Amino acid sequence: MGMRNNNSTNIIREHCKELILSDAQIADLMNRLLEDIQKGLRKDTHESATVRCFVTYVQDLPNGTEHGKFLALDLGGTNFRVLIITLGEKHFDMKSKIYAIPQNIMIGTGEQLFDHIAECLANFMKEHSLETERLPLGFTFSFPLTQKGLTKGLLEKWTKGFNCSGCVGEDVVQLLKDALARRNDVQIDVCAILNDTTGTLNVMCLATTQFQLPPIGIIGTGSNACYVEKVENAELFDGDKSKPYVIINTEWGAFGDDGRLDFVRTEYDREIDQYSINPGKQLHEKMISGMYMGELARLILVKFTKQGLLFGGNGSDLLYKRGNFFTKYVSEIESDKRGSYMNCRQVLEELGLNHATDQDCSNVRYICECVSRRAAHLVSAGVATLVNKIAQESVTVGIDGSVYRFHPHFHDLIMEKMADLVTPGIKFDIMLSEDGSGRGAALVAAVACRDR
Ligand code: BGC
Ligand code: MG
Repeated sequence: MGMRNNNSTNIIREHCKELILSDAQIADLMNRLLEDIQKGLRKDTHESATVRCFVTYVQDLPNGTEHGKFLALDLGGTNFRVLIITLGEKHFDMKSKIYAIPQNIMIGTGEQLFDHIAECLANFMKEHSLETERLPLGFTFSFPLTQKGLTKGLLEKWTKGFNCSGCVGEDVVQLLKDALARRNDVQIDVCAILNDTTGTLNVMCLATTQFQLPPIGIIGTGSNACYVEKVENAELFDGDKSKPYVIINTEWGAFGDDGRLDFVRTEYDREIDQYSINPGKQLHEKMISGMYMGELARLILVKFTKQGLLFGGNGSDLLYKRGNFFTKYVSEIESDKRGSYMNCRQVLEELGLNHATDQDCSNVRYICECVSRRAAHLVSAGVATLVNKIAQESVTVGIDGSVYRFHPHFHDLIMEKMADLVTPGIKFDIMLSEDGSGRGAALVAAVACRDR
């Protein structure tokens, strides 16, 4: 019996090797990503690049003197939020409310989506007795946009769980304004549309020294990064060229959409992609982010169960159902103390796998570790690419997102891997940067108001 179990463990570990990125593969990945970022920045290759490197038109960063009352919208993760934020000299006040976006709206028409957003905003304003005011608003819209300025952004494509018709190619700010005009009960003044990475960078700027221009990563439902680039390198930028810098939204989640990641993708990655609502798109994101991590683990568990290597070959209907192994399970399972399988057993019981042995639990944990480790190493390779490109003597990278926050080892895994990947001599640190999409939207809006 023990013999057989050990054997399955060995076979499982052997099969899982394809999920472990070698140093050579990571080095290769970093070179490719850097090349693709450069393609995104250049005028002649931007259109065909996978990592588009969109210019954001955010050139001025907050200095702490911003003040006033701002509305913010945050669309793009698992939740939609409306916020009212007061920035003051010494105080900061924020009230917010989360609204669900029903599945049928996420994949319905653009008009339905923006009507829903407008309705939530109007209700929120009424609840806070703001309906007679015309407040400045920052709109965190966490999808790829071609920006034509700070208040105009054309949707390139939907990502994550969204796929609303009639929006691609449209100015999202206009879609919001149209929806508000259809209701005609509240007034707002859109001061900025921004990506969640950009909002996070603005929040980070207040937390670090002014000489640092921190790169930012988001590892949540989706995955992305932004950084500050010299205006002369951002060939698509046609704003104020007297200012030296502009924030670039890399949209690295699309890295590999031309096949350049195929050398590290596995059958599980191909299956995730095939059953997603956007096949062929966001292939890097699909190896990393919270929307897919649990499902990746599930596919591996299913495969090994069917081969008789787990649970005595007996799975369960719940395990075999797509989407049923949540990303939070990965975090919970890896939160067990070594040698304890308390959370692991609880998860397996939720899935009707009460017959798991300790050996099964240990293998389940190993599989989760392989998936989250690979994700963390891909993030490390990406962040290190940016840190090396920026080449500041010392830098604090800001990261936010549910995976980074809730996975028990993600931060440590990134720190450890980055130590190998960052150019010797550069001092780096990583810090959680909180609520960039809420507070950051208010800051970007405030800076925009300050300057006009
Ligand atoms: C989007 C990005 C966003 C990221 C994290 C990706 O799917 O394309 O714009 O920053 O998710 O929310
Ligand atoms: Mg968010």
